[in-house]
Amino acid sequence: MNQLQMVDLKGQYQRLKPQIDAAMQAVIDSTAFINGPQVKTFAQNLSNYLQVAHVVPCANGTDALQIALMALDLPQGGEVIVPAFNYVATAEVIALLGLKPVFVDVLPDTFCIDPAKVREAITEKTVAIMPVHLFGQCAPMEEIMDLAIAQELFVIEDNAQAIGAEYVDAEGGTSFAGTIGHVGTTSFFPSKNLGCMGDGGAIFTQDEDIALVLQQTANHGQHKKYHYSRVGVNSRLDTLQAALLDVKLQHLDDFILRRQKAAAFYDSFFAEAEQIQIPTLAPYSSHVFHQYTLRVPAEDRDALKAYLHEKEIPSMIYYPVPLHLHEAYSFLGHKAGDFPVSEDLCQKVISLPMHTELTQEQQTFIAEAVLAFFKN
Ligand SMILES: *Cc1c(COP(=O)(O)O)cnc(C)c1O
Repeated sequence: MNQLQMVDLKGQYQRLKPQIDAAMQAVIDSTAFINGPQVKTFAQNLSNYLQVAHVVPCANGTDALQIALMALDLPQGGEVIVPAFNYVATAEVIALLGLKPVFVDVLPDTFCIDPAKVREAITEKTVAIMPVHLFGQCAPMEEIMDLAIAQELFVIEDNAQAIGAEYVDAEGGTSFAGTIGHVGTTSFFPSKNLGCMGDGGAIFTQDEDIALVLQQTANHGQHKKYHYSRVGVNSRLDTLQAALLDVKLQHLDDFILRRQKAAAFYDSFFAEAEQIQIPTLAPYSSHVFHQYTLRVPAEDRDALKAYLHEKEIPSMIYYPVPLHLHEAYSFLGHKAGDFPVSEDLCQKVISLPMHTELTQEQQTFIAEAVLAFFKN
């Protein structure tokens, strides 16, 4: 059995090597490293895949979030609602732009932002809501959009972790994650579900006017060569990365299927185990399993991680500390107890290896080790 990894980038590359190498070599031969034709082609193909009118490629998922906020021209000091149980990037860009991150708690079963808490957090100063489709599953978007429309707020979806996930609305219609709010963002960081060989990101919108401003903002605020209408940034997706991503996009459905199969196989081991809670599937979303995250008793979690480590089984704690308790966000004046669900999850979650190359042999070894820990 190969050495176990959280994400097997090498195995996936080996499997797709001929296609990927040819696409990247073509860029090298052309030397069109910046804004080569592959960038446009990939953006168009991704826009077709996601059924979203506009895709603006950029340098990474954090830039995507920052450019989205910049393009909406939000007033200084405006409040932006974000989940407390999350990766730091979403909150970081809010603070960086002179806006105020307003943390709210998440749903205990799906880990995504709790719409009831969003409603309570809305004030006169609220300007936007940033739901995060955490671990591969959509946040409850209809409730969030209803609140946003009623209060005239922008919604920016952080879809770094759930590209290809589908939201199912009350009528049974589906939309892809990241295409429901005013703007959606994603990351092509290597370990994401659609990952490149370095950094990359993209911004989505159905709105033509917003798309134009996003594009200009990502390109120094330029509307005409050497003419600048706003303060922008320099954030581009490399042509090499775009060429590679265009190959991988053709495999995205297969990647998702492989992750879903692996998740179901893990589930089959843990369904009976009393101390282990398997991922909850929301009725309103498909799950593309960026992470396969278990909840275990808080008093066992770190010992389980150490036990797995001894057996050379990697595992990760996403996330060990909720955002409101980090020093960087202490200026918001929060304390332990403010967001009990997020705080509780940080004590109980553990993510197992999840990627497109997992074998049943590997998964059996991993799952049996987890079960053995709780039998002792
Ligand atoms: C990875 C990630 C980001 C940032 O993406 P980068 O490409 O690393 O900048 C933002 N938000 C979430 C939820 C992420 O998981």
